[in-house]
Amino acid sequence: MMNPALKSYCRQVMSRDLDVIRFKMERTTLEIDDPDGSIYAFIQLLDGSRGVEEIARERQLTLREVEEGLSMLDRYRLLTCGTADPSGLTEREKLRYKNNFTYFSLYESLAESRFDFQKRLKEATVAVVGLGGGSVIAAWLAAMGVGRIIGVDFDRVELNNLNRQFFYTEDDVGEYKTIALQRRLLALNRDVRVEVHERRIDSARSLSDIVEQADLVVGAIDTPPLLGSRFVNSACLSRRVPSYYLSIGNRLGFYFRVLPYESGCTDCRVMHIMRNDPSAAERIRRQVSGAAADADAGNPGFAPNVAMMTALVAADIAKQLTGYASLPDMAFGIVPFHDMDISRSLIPRYPDCPSCGTASSDSRAVEPVSMEQLLDAAEAVSTGTRDRETPS
Ligand SMILES: [Zn+2]
Repeated sequence: MMNPALKSYCRQVMSRDLDVIRFKMERTTLEIDDPDGSIYAFIQLLDGSRGVEEIARERQLTLREVEEGLSMLDRYRLLTCGTADPSGLTEREKLRYKNNFTYFSLYESLAESRFDFQKRLKEATVAVVGLGGGSVIAAWLAAMGVGRIIGVDFDRVELNNLNRQFFYTEDDVGEYKTIALQRRLLALNRDVRVEVHERRIDSARSLSDIVEQADLVVGAIDTPPLLGSRFVNSACLSRRVPSYYLSIGNRLGFYFRVLPYESGCTDCRVMHIMRNDPSAAERIRRQVSGAAADADAGNPGFAPNVAMMTALVAADIAKQLTGYASLPDMAFGIVPFHDMDISRSLIPRYPDCPSCGTASSDSRAVEPVSMEQLLDAAEAVSTGTRDRETPS
């Protein structure tokens, strides 16, 4: 039986004032009414040295009353299991992730310890498709202790990548990104497994075998423009694997989380843009047809911006894999680089989306429809498309 304890940082920020107990956190203050001081006296016993029976005896409470008191404090994430067992992690890992545990301890409860969160990272497999900006995400994942990382790319490291893809070195120039990154990640953390595939992604099928092994996929490919992400999206939808996308534009970056058949997908995003801005079709067509030939010539990737965008994605991934905190609802994040005024918005799941709409989920087609078909579907706004939804 665990011995409940007040988290030490909670003890440090706790104060008592007449009939209120106050916990002054960084941006919030939690207040618990305690007119007769009984809760304060109860909390004083929570130092990890006593079990539930002992606490009941000392405070002359029933076991049920003690459990109710503990569950009230636990709801506010004030308690830790004093004797939580970090089993499943090696001695080296306990040392290596010491600061992860300190961070996770802020969020742990009587039911889930900081070690549980770390173990979930260790047991996870994340595939990163595209090892340009994706190489930086892969490095965050390796540092935090994601147990298995699968990297996919077909490019070689070029000197002009190094201004932002800073886990490659000058010695790696000319080497396949897959090989160079594998070497770097294992140098960073030899406790993680790193598997790599030199592969050009030209269809959703070209990813199926990788997606089916992953708990989560990052689509960080910019070629072919837009279509690359749509291949990843389709492959992930067909296997119901959550996926992330990010892009760095001229003045802003965005990142996007897709929970299959829950939130909108990459095709829903195109539909969303077009339905809110009818002139967007032309822009999207231009983006798809041009630029591919000389993708790097107009790439505004700048190290701090790449670090920021990739870190935002990695932070969301950590929440998704561990559950230490809930995911923000608004899955589409936009970061304007000039003023850092980060905003989030919702991309709804469109019932008539050709990839994740109500009709598509029955057929579960693996490949995305053509770009033309997607744009046509997006333009079919309020012409009865929703009414024609198929009853399944
Ligand atoms: Zn969709």
